[in-house]
Amino acid sequence: MALPMLYCWREVTGQVSRAYKTELDLTQAQREACLRHAGAARWAWNWALARKKTSYETEGKVLSVFDLHKELTTVKKTIAPWLYEVSSAAPLQAIWDLGDAFKNFFDKRARYPRFKSRKRSRKSFRMQGDIKVMERGIKLRTFGVLRLKERGYLPVGAHVLSATISERAGRWYVSVCIEDNSTPAPSNGGPVVGVDLGISALATISDGTHIANPRALARYERRLIRQQKQVSRKERDSSNRMKAVERLRRTYARIVTMRTDAIHKATTMLTRTKSVIVVEDLHVESMMRKGPLAKSLADASMREFIRQLQYKAGLYGAKVLVAPEFFPSSKTCSRCGNVKSDLALSERVYVCEICGFEADRDLNAAINLEMVAPSLGETLNAWQRKEVAGRPRRADQCLPMKQETHRSAT
Ligand SMILES: [Zn+2]
Repeated sequence: MALPMLYCWREVTGQVSRAYKTELDLTQAQREACLRHAGAARWAWNWALARKKTSYETEGKVLSVFDLHKELTTVKKTIAPWLYEVSSAAPLQAIWDLGDAFKNFFDKRARYPRFKSRKRSRKSFRMQGDIKVMERGIKLRTFGVLRLKERGYLPVGAHVLSATISERAGRWYVSVCIEDNSTPAPSNGGPVVGVDLGISALATISDGTHIANPRALARYERRLIRQQKQVSRKERDSSNRMKAVERLRRTYARIVTMRTDAIHKATTMLTRTKSVIVVEDLHVESMMRKGPLAKSLADASMREFIRQLQYKAGLYGAKVLVAPEFFPSSKTCSRCGNVKSDLALSERVYVCEICGFEADRDLNAAINLEMVAPSLGETLNAWQRKEVAGRPRRADQCLPMKQETHRSAT
């Protein structure tokens, strides 16, 4: 079974490219420079979009990216001299991106390109060419070296096709498209495990290990809910609302960072010590518990967990398998294979009415994920199979995937 596409895989001149996104650690001067470049890119996008519209409406002429580039270089002096303060790469790239947006629109893959509002649109810009990834930073034209918060994630020395710098709640990120030629490390020889990803607990491993969330997280989550209410009470478009939104964003970002740090510790431990790690594609269940904001947080943190597992797996010699979405990991009894038709979210302990098995709900799910490993990995080696078979209590059992045959046998 193939892994889901969590990275942006795309063919570029016959080679596979991969997208990586990570946080930057910028100085005040760099932040200001990034803001100026994002402003220039937004301005160029809006200017080009307006030019294309009027040119088509008045003369019936479709301006190409090259026409717009040429025009921008000549009109820059008169209408936007401040553009000289930024690298020309950012506004020119914005015009390229607008060209791509139109292409996507005509290919029916996207909606008609819109103007970018100063307030609402995401501050970002893209650069191409002359980008270098180093151990602790990324080097861009006119910017020099921008420090990275997360070391070892971007492959050092890799060929970078493009870099997008963007801001979110006061934090800056870089997302790069890299040609990937790396070969994964040899297996670390550890056991096969299933991992149940959660929200109340970060993760539960099938060997019984429970990885808790950082304590402070709960406090911030309560704050998030409170601030969300405050936002909804404020009058639309009022400055008080803007302030409340800003506070909410900061809390949200704080939670994301705390989760990400905890996820880093967990995924490093897992990929260093386990040879095969089975996770679920999407943990729909735990996302239904709270409101929409919590849902998007849950969604993001699970994606982040799997993203980190996948890139670290290549570094430390582990393999990550993803169980299909419909696999009933929570409802299945990990001892006898019975599948419950219904399991309430409040039932934290799994109790099997067939064999009487009792276990923590998340642990039961993790064990089921571990057991499904052989049917997922057609590429599993012999030693990995032995590891699964080495557990006598489960070796003679059918995999939960084959429920029907198993139940008729009991
Ligand atoms: Zn049972």
